[in-house]
Amino acid sequence: MTHPTPDSASATARYVGSDNQSGISPEVWAAMAEANAGHAPAYGADAWTQAAADGVRRLFDTDCEVFFVFNGTAANSLALASLCQSYHSVICAASAHVETDECGAPEFFSNGSKLLTAPSEEGKLLPETIRALATSRTDIHFPKARVVTITQATETGRVYTPGEIAAIADTCRGSGLRLHMDGARFANACAGLGCHPGDITWRAGVDVLCFGGTKNGMAVGEAVIFFDRRLAEDFDYRCKQAGQLASKMRYLAAPWIGSLRDDAWLARAGHANACAARLARQIADVPGMRLLHPVDANAVFLDMSDSAAARLRALGWQFYAFIGGGVRLMFTWDTAFATVDALAADLRRAAA
Ligand SMILES: *Cc1c(COP(=O)(O)O)cnc(C)c1O
Repeated sequence: MTHPTPDSASATARYVGSDNQSGISPEVWAAMAEANAGHAPAYGADAWTQAAADGVRRLFDTDCEVFFVFNGTAANSLALASLCQSYHSVICAASAHVETDECGAPEFFSNGSKLLTAPSEEGKLLPETIRALATSRTDIHFPKARVVTITQATETGRVYTPGEIAAIADTCRGSGLRLHMDGARFANACAGLGCHPGDITWRAGVDVLCFGGTKNGMAVGEAVIFFDRRLAEDFDYRCKQAGQLASKMRYLAAPWIGSLRDDAWLARAGHANACAARLARQIADVPGMRLLHPVDANAVFLDMSDSAAARLRALGWQFYAFIGGGVRLMFTWDTAFATVDALAADLRRAAA
C-alpha cells in the first residue's frame, strides 16, 4: 500500500518551520472516524485502546507496557519522573528538548530531580561523557545520577545507531542508570536507519521510550512505552494526576491503529526524510550556504547569511532561524517533492 502525499497546491506548501505545522494524515483521520462510532467505555477501557497497545507490542515484538498521552512534554516529563526520586538527577545533552523546550516540566513532575546537561556533538551523548558526569560527584550534597535521556532523532537531525545506543546502555548499566529515549521523531530515526524499532530500543537496552505520533501525522498523541514493565507501576495514576488521562481515550488510541496499519508510520517518516535528503542534494553547490549537520532524518540545517535568510522569508517561506546564522528547514509526511524543489530554487535565488 502506498501513502500518497497531498499535492503542492495545498495551503501548507510554504511552511518548512516544523513538523508540527503539518496536518493529520488520511490513515489517522480514517481511524479516528472509525472509532467515532457510538458509545464506548471511557478512560482507556475501550477496544481501541486495547488494540492500539497490542499494535505497539506487535511492532516492537515484545510485551511492553503502553500508555497514550497528549504531547511530548508530558510523555517525557512523566516518564522521567517515574524513573526518579526527587533527589535524583537526569543526564541529558545540553541541547535536549527536555532541557531547552519543556519549561522545566521534567523537574516539576519529578518534584525537583535535576537535569545534568552535558556537551554533545549534534545532540548525541557519548558513553564517556555520561560516565564522567555520573561519577563527577558521588557525595551526599549532589543529586544522585539515576537516568540518562537521549533524543532519537536528535534536535539537530542526527540519529544514534543501534551500536551507539547499546554502548550508552552498557555505560548506564555499569553506573546504575536507567535509559530513557525521547522519540518525538522516533519514526524518522527508524526510517533513516532502516532497522527494526526493537533494535534501537529494548534490544539495545532502552528502558522507556516516548514514541512521537504528533510529528508523524497525528493531531495529538505520544505513546509512553515501558520495556521493563516493572517501571510502569502506578504510571496510570501519574498520568491522571498530571491531567494526561484522556477520558475519551479511544481518540488518542485510534490514531495509532491507523498509523501502524500497513506500516504507514514508517512510510510517512521515510517520505519526510526523503524530502530532507532531496533538498540537501539540490543545494549542495549553492554558494554561501553550508550544511551545518549531516542529514540523517527529516531536518536540514543550513548556515547562511542573515540577508539570504531575509530574502528567503520575503519569498514566502516560513522557517526558524537560530542565533549565529543557522536556519532549520523541517520536512514532514505531507511535504510535496514539488515544494522541496521550489524551496531549493528559492534558496539558490536567496543566495545570489
Ligand atoms: C516536538 C518535540 C517534543 C514534544 O514536544 P511537545 O510540544 O510537548 O509535543 C519532544 N522532544 C523533541 C525532541 C521534540 O522535537
